[in-house]
Amino acid sequence: MTTANTLLARVLRENVKTFKAYSSARDEFSGEANIFLDANENALGSPITPVLNRYPDPYQRKLRRKIAELLEVSPENIVLGNGSDELIDLLIRATIAPNEDQIWITEPSYGMYEVSAALQEAVVKKISLNEDFDIADTLLATEFTERAKLLFLCSPNNPSGNLLSQKKIETLLVRFPGLVVIDEAYIDFSDVKGWIPRLEDFSNLVVLRTLSKSWGMAGARLGIGVMTKELRAVLDAIKPPYNLNSLSAEAALSALQQTSWQKECLRILTHERERLVMDLKNLQFVEKIYPSVANFILIKVKDADALYGSLLRKGIIVRNRNSVPGCKNCLRITIGSPEENTALLNAMKSF
Ligand SMILES: *Cc1c(COP(=O)(O)O)cnc(C)c1O
Repeated sequence: MTTANTLLARVLRENVKTFKAYSSARDEFSGEANIFLDANENALGSPITPVLNRYPDPYQRKLRRKIAELLEVSPENIVLGNGSDELIDLLIRATIAPNEDQIWITEPSYGMYEVSAALQEAVVKKISLNEDFDIADTLLATEFTERAKLLFLCSPNNPSGNLLSQKKIETLLVRFPGLVVIDEAYIDFSDVKGWIPRLEDFSNLVVLRTLSKSWGMAGARLGIGVMTKELRAVLDAIKPPYNLNSLSAEAALSALQQTSWQKECLRILTHERERLVMDLKNLQFVEKIYPSVANFILIKVKDADALYGSLLRKGIIVRNRNSVPGCKNCLRITIGSPEENTALLNAMKSF
């Protein structure tokens, strides 16, 4: 295996290799003190709660420890972002020289990879997934050059809901010269552990998790990046120093104590997913229900635009994926509460 440092020498942008991070007031002091006159905060407090007048810990040490414990890794392997979206952006800015370096993306997949890639003027290489929405053999057989810096794989894949084949991912981890980012936003809804346990086997592996889905914390904006400690140090250096605010960090710490709440949600939502699949099978205009291990399902219907419009008029919003390559006449439906799912089924039955 390539060592983490050899890999970083190859994938990082030149300016990032020599980047000098902003040194915040909180970086320059460590130890015990009672009087903090180093950061121009308001020492009289805040109008809301006493702690908000202070800048947060740039390294979110308490929260990283808690998340590390849950994911069974070291806190040194973890970066937290203002949503996974911030981590996607940081990974791109760390590696992509504009108009030169490549980002490899599978299609259809999560849209943010391409949006952030466009902002950085990355050369985007898109390879379609196969008819089962799994990694295509063409991607496995590609001869990558050193310009191939990032490969985004989403498993379970959004919008199709399936896991990508473990074997194919492993092949790509070996063959791809840059970082392989596996976005596991929906992994908790599946019955697999995902790629975090393989971190020590591949220095180019990055796993993304989020509190936005199974933890019910989308509003707090908290994404988790798991990677080698060497790459983690780079992202820590280039991230905005206070990228995670104290309110979100506090809320996340409380939420993560509630593992039984999350378990119960997972039980209900996966049960509801199976119920929706069973009932949707009986509707003649539903042509295909793609197998999903996530908290949404992709269905192919006769006329997606018409069904989308009909649901909309009944006050039900689903995601119309009709114009996405590989998703002609497909709608992506998030698994709602039991009542919401029943309302959706009734609306669809009367379509
Ligand atoms: C929802 C989702 C995320 C979560 O993004 P956040 O910025 O953490 O809310 C990440 N990846 C995929 C594929 C998603 O669908």
